[in-house]
Amino acid sequence: MADQAFVTLATNDNYAKGAMVLGQSLRNHTTTEKLVALIGPRVTEPYRTTLNSIFDEVCLVDIMDSKDTAHLAMMKRPDLGITFTKLHCWTLTHYSKCVFMDADTLVLSNIDELFEREELSAAPDPGWPDCFNSGVFVFRPSNETHEKLVKFCSEKGSFDGGDQGVLNSFFNTWATADISKHLPFIYNLSSIAIYSYLPAFKQYGHEAKVVHFLGKMKPWNYSYDAESREVKGHSLSPDLLHLHPDYLVMWWELYCKSVLPVLKQAYGDIPCNTDCTEDKVCGDVKEVAALAPVPPRQISSEERKQRWEAGQADYMGDDSFVHIERKLDSFLK
Ligand code: UDP
Ligand code: MN
Repeated sequence: MADQAFVTLATNDNYAKGAMVLGQSLRNHTTTEKLVALIGPRVTEPYRTTLNSIFDEVCLVDIMDSKDTAHLAMMKRPDLGITFTKLHCWTLTHYSKCVFMDADTLVLSNIDELFEREELSAAPDPGWPDCFNSGVFVFRPSNETHEKLVKFCSEKGSFDGGDQGVLNSFFNTWATADISKHLPFIYNLSSIAIYSYLPAFKQYGHEAKVVHFLGKMKPWNYSYDAESREVKGHSLSPDLLHLHPDYLVMWWELYCKSVLPVLKQAYGDIPCNTDCTEDKVCGDVKEVAALAPVPPRQISSEERKQRWEAGQADYMGDDSFVHIERKLDSFLK
């Protein structure tokens, strides 16, 4: 519908990669809704060009330059920068209803039926199911709601430092008031759930409609070998791999097939004298794909422990099932 849209956000080129794959996955599943990308000023020109080829609308949101309430509130709470940026989606008032999707989500089938839901509909967070996860939610753009949210955010802050904390405090009756606002978990399946409740994943995983690469490691942080169709740098247990289509591989396939060719062309269209390296223009898929990942920094076991305790386990990497299993085995011996 013309007055409804899927909305995502990317403040830098890496998240723009995610946004492009998400947008393309929505197109591949023949959505009839509009696609909108909110971008920050740091997103570079080739990425903007590519985003424009996938999305109906690419809106630059520059909170620091605008003279609105968000700007003033932001001055008091610079720590909540990206949170304020996400709240911007409520200002898209030329749409009557929208579905926000994190740039690290991937759509596996048509999800246009989400527009039958009301604000604020979202799926439970796997870590604390009385909170909703803010990676996928239905909302109604409204300047009034936007102002209330910004005010709320600058006065009360966010209990988790991000948008999810603010939104859960603001829409605080979500857990109890209206079950129709609880989206089924298959609209926001995070890989964490695969590990924390494997039998349920075995039973229902094939129904997943949206995968969410929640956490520190994002698909674009890995590298991909297009020939062997292997994602490098993660160690999902073969036990788990045969259970489900490898979502990371699906992400990379889409990126290499539909996004990268347009991106390369966009690099080709601009004079190559600034930060655009020869490789970026001329490399084949394999080379360019290998350019994308930032190799994960080696972290100390103490830091890893702290991250684990803070709920930031690297389920696809160091803290993967095989590694945990190996550790348990060594204790048992
Ligand atoms: N985001 C962004 N730039 C950033 C961090 C986040 O554009 O530097 C946006 C992006 O849409 C992302 C969302 O905010 O998907 C939420 O962040 P993230 O997905 O990293 O959080 P998680 O889902 O892992 O908690
Ligand atoms: Mn996310």
